[in-house]
Amino acid sequence: MKISEIINELELLAPQAYAEGFDNTGLLVGDANAEVSGILVTLDTLETIVDEAIASDCNLIVSFHPIIFSGLKKITGKNYVERVVLKAIKNDIAIYAIHTALDNSFNGVNAGICDRLQLSNRKILIPQKGTIKKLITYVPTEEATALKQALFNVGAGSIGNYDNCSFSTNGTGTYKGNENSNPVVGAKHEFIAADETQISVTFPKHLESIIIKTLHEAHSYEEVAYEVLTLENTNQHIGMGMIGALKNPMEEADFLNYLKKQMNVAVVRHSSLRNKTIKKVAVLGGSGSFAIAAAKGAGADVFITADLKYHDFYTAESEILLADIGHYESEQFTKELLHTFLSKKISNFAPALSRGKVVLSKINTNPISYF
Ligand SMILES: [Zn+2]
Repeated sequence: MKISEIINELELLAPQAYAEGFDNTGLLVGDANAEVSGILVTLDTLETIVDEAIASDCNLIVSFHPIIFSGLKKITGKNYVERVVLKAIKNDIAIYAIHTALDNSFNGVNAGICDRLQLSNRKILIPQKGTIKKLITYVPTEEATALKQALFNVGAGSIGNYDNCSFSTNGTGTYKGNENSNPVVGAKHEFIAADETQISVTFPKHLESIIIKTLHEAHSYEEVAYEVLTLENTNQHIGMGMIGALKNPMEEADFLNYLKKQMNVAVVRHSSLRNKTIKKVAVLGGSGSFAIAAAKGAGADVFITADLKYHDFYTAESEILLADIGHYESEQFTKELLHTFLSKKISNFAPALSRGKVVLSKINTNPISYF
């Protein structure tokens, strides 16, 4: 199995098209055409992690955080980032980072936290905009059903719990081919008015190339008339943070104890207790101060995140309980999530590459210690 095939699988879990603009995801180091000897899954890529990959005969590191974030102008080993990259290249080890592509996935980092807290009725806290597109095309009426089916087969027309969604209207299409044309109906220089069906379907933006390719393959015309639009609608399945409900509402102190136990943390930094029952819980793994307003707006009783600053706690304004469980702690189960996903995929698609070849890193990469 090649690295590119593993990347294709990771793209199914968390398409890079949904990573944040500031991020640096994807294959950061290495050759996508190389054969995979084994995969090491980690939260961060440090020198000790590259050593662990070497020791466990893994030539692909799948990391949550990207080791190269803001660009490299020199690779001389002067800082830890350069040393990691140097060591990886010298040892022919590739590094893939998934980061905010997985943060924004419905089955990603925050779903992992919701699982630990057993939250039901989950929704994305800040749904992404500009990720739903619409295709409008025009096809001879007798071809309309087959074309719609071809588009559905590659993922167009899915809305929430429904698929095969489309809208069609019948009308008259006109055209006249020039000297170099080769029309399927009529002849060059002939004005044609034909019975055509206008089809519209929506699709998620990461499928655009396969959908346009399928459109051209399934359509009989030499020139296919179509329009692709980006919709303003928010995507309820892609975005930052998640909100869900506890099965049994809890008093704040009980909830904080539950949170510590379920997320395996020793300390929770939190804003003033409000003496309110906790039912709705918003979560955002990693640095989440930007989502405090969204958590309040969604009616969350508590917002669990990390990297909150002194003044951020004031913004709770007695409207919400803010709970900072630590950056590493909030994302610590992400490597298990990736490990489980890759193990299943590898055993399905490449039984020759045994389950044992997806290795969960044993190293705690948290740079923060508590005394
Ligand atoms: Zn993070």
